[in-house]
Amino acid sequence: MPRKQEERCSFCGRSASEAGLLLSGLSGFICKDCSDQAIRIFKEQGATSSKKYDPDAPIPTPTEIKEFLDLYVIGQDAAKRVLSVAVYNHYKRLRYNAQRVDNNDVEIDKSNIVLVGETGTGKTLLARTIARLLKVPFCIADATTLTEAGYVGDDVENVLVRLLQAADYDVAAAERGIVFIDEIDKISRKSENTSITRDVSGEGVQQALLKLLEGADVSVPPEGGRKHPEQKLINVNTRNILFICGGAFDGIERAISARLNSNAIGFKGDERRQELDRNNMLQYVQPMDLKKFGLIPELVGRFPVLTHLEALDREALRRILTEPKNALVKQYEALFKMDGVELRFDPEVLDMVVDRAVEYRLGARGLRGIMEGIMTDLMFDLPQMQKGSTYTLTPEVAKAKLSI
Ligand code: ADP
Repeated sequence: MPRKQEERCSFCGRSASEAGLLLSGLSGFICKDCSDQAIRIFKEQGATSSKKYDPDAPIPTPTEIKEFLDLYVIGQDAAKRVLSVAVYNHYKRLRYNAQRVDNNDVEIDKSNIVLVGETGTGKTLLARTIARLLKVPFCIADATTLTEAGYVGDDVENVLVRLLQAADYDVAAAERGIVFIDEIDKISRKSENTSITRDVSGEGVQQALLKLLEGADVSVPPEGGRKHPEQKLINVNTRNILFICGGAFDGIERAISARLNSNAIGFKGDERRQELDRNNMLQYVQPMDLKKFGLIPELVGRFPVLTHLEALDREALRRILTEPKNALVKQYEALFKMDGVELRFDPEVLDMVVDRAVEYRLGARGLRGIMEGIMTDLMFDLPQMQKGSTYTLTPEVAKAKLSI
């Protein structure tokens, strides 16, 4: 009797012992690697019918977007309103421009956005929260890792790789996506945060970014990294991609103050000066302040929408601990509940945490670390606690943990 021929993948020719499980078809086999590759090629060619990003999904209104943001982000009303409108317009614009038949119809420009605000005030959180709601692909990139082509680091186009990945390589969906670029202030001409491997000023990165913002056909290596000649590239047009940038712009208040003071001279100067809220100069930020800070004028011109985030005061920090849908206190309570223990916080403990966060000047970013400092030992002992019991975290315990 002839020996049964070994089963092999009909695509790569490997046997089951080399390639693992083989799926059989009518007249052949396929291994996992080849089927993964096939799926990717189908996606790149737009041949999959994934409805993950449905271009016809209903557009949320600015009110709905803001209400959703309110569930997760405390305060920051000005930024929320501006973002809600920008995102709403982004959707409308996509739909309208797609339906535009007559070249004489008005073409609606996109409104890239800059969020200016101290660290830990919720810039990234706003962007992330919008991503939850959106039916378009979304990614976050860090401007400090970007370099001009030819330098060590990420080419600016790699931002689009992340977007493509977020879109499961559905190019059409990625081309309608939203990109959040954090730390945009760190690529200013005057930034001290320059790297020796990058051009000294950051201006080259700004130029490269400008191309993306303006809308260009960009060829992107599907897996990221450097382009090399024999690699297959994916073409992405950035005309409809909305860019939201965030930055702390440390010290920009001085430029704002200087501008406002010099403007005020000569006409009703004193009255105007009195109206200024000196503790919150960021609210008066204007595009020219970004230029003063070291962003090139062309780039500033590509951000028609500019808004600010408020510094978080004690009350806001206190609310952040308990109110958002995924507030820290709620998270710890949930962790305890999983071990059958009801956790209660003495309100004084929360005040202590806020005091510490104010001291650290890290905005809400400090809250998590401080809470962890208090909670780690307790969570270590948690599995040994009596199921069904209640544990109240007292100021005495918290104080002892915080003083270590
Ligand atoms: P940044 O402004 O530096 O981007 P983030 O958005 O990353 O700050 O904030 C850091 C963390 O602090 C967030 O993950 C969130 O838990 C918390 N946080 C910051 N601002 C707020 C806010 N306004 N409301 C609720 N939580 C906030």
